[in-house]
Amino acid sequence: MKRKAIVVGAGIGGLSVAILLKNIGWHVEVFEKATSFKSMGAGIVLAANGMKALERLGVAGEIKTLGKKVGKAEIRTWDGELLFQLPTKVMAERYGTYSYLIHRASLQEILLDKFDGSVVKLQKSVSGFLQDKSKVTALFSDGSQVEGDVLIGADGIHSAIRANLIQKDKLRYAGFTALRGICSFEDERYDLKKGGGFEAWGHGKRFGFSHLGQDRIFWFAAINAPEGKVIPIGARKQAALEHFKGWYNPIESVIQATNEEEILHHDIFDKKPLSHWGSGRVTLLGDAAHPMLPNLGQGGAQAMEDAIVLADCLSNTKDIAEANFKYERERISRTTKMVRHSRKMASMMQLENPVAIGFRNVMLQAVPSHIFASRLHWVVGHEVSRMNGR
Ligand SMILES: Cc1cc2nc3c(=O)[nH]c(=O)nc-3n(C[C@H](O)[C@H](O)[C@H](O)COP(=O)(O)OP(=O)(O)OC[C@H]3O[C@@H](n4cnc5c(N)ncnc54)[C@H](O)[C@@H]3O)c2cc1C
Repeated sequence: MKRKAIVVGAGIGGLSVAILLKNIGWHVEVFEKATSFKSMGAGIVLAANGMKALERLGVAGEIKTLGKKVGKAEIRTWDGELLFQLPTKVMAERYGTYSYLIHRASLQEILLDKFDGSVVKLQKSVSGFLQDKSKVTALFSDGSQVEGDVLIGADGIHSAIRANLIQKDKLRYAGFTALRGICSFEDERYDLKKGGGFEAWGHGKRFGFSHLGQDRIFWFAAINAPEGKVIPIGARKQAALEHFKGWYNPIESVIQATNEEEILHHDIFDKKPLSHWGSGRVTLLGDAAHPMLPNLGQGGAQAMEDAIVLADCLSNTKDIAEANFKYERERISRTTKMVRHSRKMASMMQLENPVAIGFRNVMLQAVPSHIFASRLHWVVGHEVSRMNGR
């Protein structure tokens, strides 16, 4: 009889593990609390390790078609002075692929098509679970139940499965809030063919601009702010324009070119790394297991790496608890390092003290770009499918 996986959440991580388990003959049911798959969203960058994971999922080609390679990656001061450039071509040659930026909705559609999204059950919110030696039962907030062999909580940063597994389940505010937008915009300095763009770093504020594919620009702004200060739709464009008044051209023009309704606003959180992700037949994956700040652009890639390792562990044994434990042991040190490093990067990128900023900028200009690239090797040069003979 086929073994059955219950996957909670149809985000990047949930769909990735669903595809991989289906490929090895499991019966997979995915439950998603949202009422539909929204086309609203933002861009997501997929570095070489993410692209390698997407190759294993069999969809890297589609990502390259619908997304845009990051051919240029500059860091500038708020008023445009160049601090450094990542050697994107050299890195692409080293890892066999560029990083790509893609609209989240496109990434989700690609993964849904690969899995057969028509079988994802929408409007099904999981609130808890029960388990014994022979099965696990997912409990839904509508009172229904589903039984399976394994339950994978891929239900994101506010995971209900994690809340059932862990006491005192608290998130940590990053100290900054994010505005994100998508628009059509052209600037001959940032050639569409080359792709990529720049980040400009100011005092407690940062603005990023990059080609998204299909002739669009994705931008984000990270702004130091107290937690919970809501910027409602209708006020977001104006808030962004005020924050970035007088900054490096084309920042104000890009914000001006964006429809108010296309601007997202979220406070940013992570979580102190956990020492366990699961219990018996239940485990966590992606943001549910290890929410991290977006400063390394690795949350999505880490969710996919988790999915590959978990599917491999489950394929190699009949003992589900043992497979979950092996998966957790293999993934926890890398994701813990990612969470910590993302936080460290955030404190360096969101500096407010002018003396510290001056020192940081001098350092950035002094260090050769190949040194930066080698410091990122543990992040982007990792190929999860080649580990431990799986
Ligand atoms: C501002 C920002 C920028 C980012 N930029 C990048 C980037 O450039 N590159 C990158 O790799 N990562 C980036 N990330 C991180 C990335 O978005 C996440 O790490 C990634 O989406 C995690 O995928 P996931 O599948 O674990 O969770 P999610 O994508 O959050 O998916 C979880 C799914 O579970 C569903 N769900 C939740 N609760 C329940 C429930 N109880 N029952 C059923 N379904 C449920 C949700 O509706 C959702 O569909 C960024 C994050 C932020 C906030």
